[in-house]
Amino acid sequence: MPSISFEFFPPKTDEQRAQLDRVAAALQPAAPEYVSVTFGAGGSTLSYTSDTVRGLHQQHGFHVAPHLSCMGGSRAEIAALLDEYRAAGYRRIVALRGDLPSGMASAGDFRYAAELVRFIREHSGDHFHVEVAAYPETHPQAEDALVDLRHFKAKIDAGANGAITQYFFNPDAYFHFVDDAQRLGVKVPIVPGIMPITNYSQLKRFSDACGAEIPRWIAKRMQAHGDDAASIRALGAEVVAQMCLRLLDGGAPGLHFYTLNRARATLAVLERLH
Ligand code: FAD
Repeated sequence: MPSISFEFFPPKTDEQRAQLDRVAAALQPAAPEYVSVTFGAGGSTLSYTSDTVRGLHQQHGFHVAPHLSCMGGSRAEIAALLDEYRAAGYRRIVALRGDLPSGMASAGDFRYAAELVRFIREHSGDHFHVEVAAYPETHPQAEDALVDLRHFKAKIDAGANGAITQYFFNPDAYFHFVDDAQRLGVKVPIVPGIMPITNYSQLKRFSDACGAEIPRWIAKRMQAHGDDAASIRALGAEVVAQMCLRLLDGGAPGLHFYTLNRARATLAVLERLH
């Protein structure tokens, strides 16, 4: 089995925290290499990420990778978080630019993720294994796919050890991206981000926002199932598992699952891979 990792978001209520505990316990037997926790932009959400990784590390025994996004943050704030994570014994970070929330005026001390990666290396040396984001279907704000690819390479040149992609449902987009990146001299592993399908309307909303394309045949089949949640789940698991198999056959170095803090859909895909 290739290396797998799971991504969670920080729960904000007691009920959500209890759910994440159940999900973490249910996913533990899959033995992920690490679990990552997203980072929401702005102020109070900082501590949610840090509290969540602590719980996953101390109570569930996972290797953890906090996401760290630099948008809106100062060098001092980011240095403090890096020191906290280092003191806690974490060895991995997912470094991102993030997006400026509406109403937030200042972009902070960093403009792009490459600058954050450089800062992590300056501040913490080689302590952290640093992952960055990759966009096989091009970042939604980028007008030119090749320029976007060069910006991706700048993050690797700044010191990133690996990349996790935005999710996609077209394996060719991934294979072309990896080929193009390797032609530019990128040698680090590029792990596909996998979005298990559970709910079509939610998936459509996410995908419109992050620039991931849902192939017409998948959209049409999902829509045909209407409100039949069980059929949508079964079709989703089958489609995503088939894609994972193609990715692994084609050389993908691992799989990173966007769990959305739920276990069932991710486990349904993993069962089909065994
Ligand atoms: P960058 O790599 O900095 O790129 C952003 C844009 O700027 C791209 O269009 C790029 O082409 C352009 N660009 C880069 N460098 C330059 C330059 N020198 N000059 C001009 N243009 C440039 N968001 C969160 O808020 N929290 C999370 O926890 C989170 N986790 C994520 C995990 C993964 C695996 C992925 C794929 C995305 C995640 N995101 C998260 C979303 C991400 O923050 C957004 O997609 C954001 O818009 C871009 O972040 P980035 O790190 O890819 O930025």
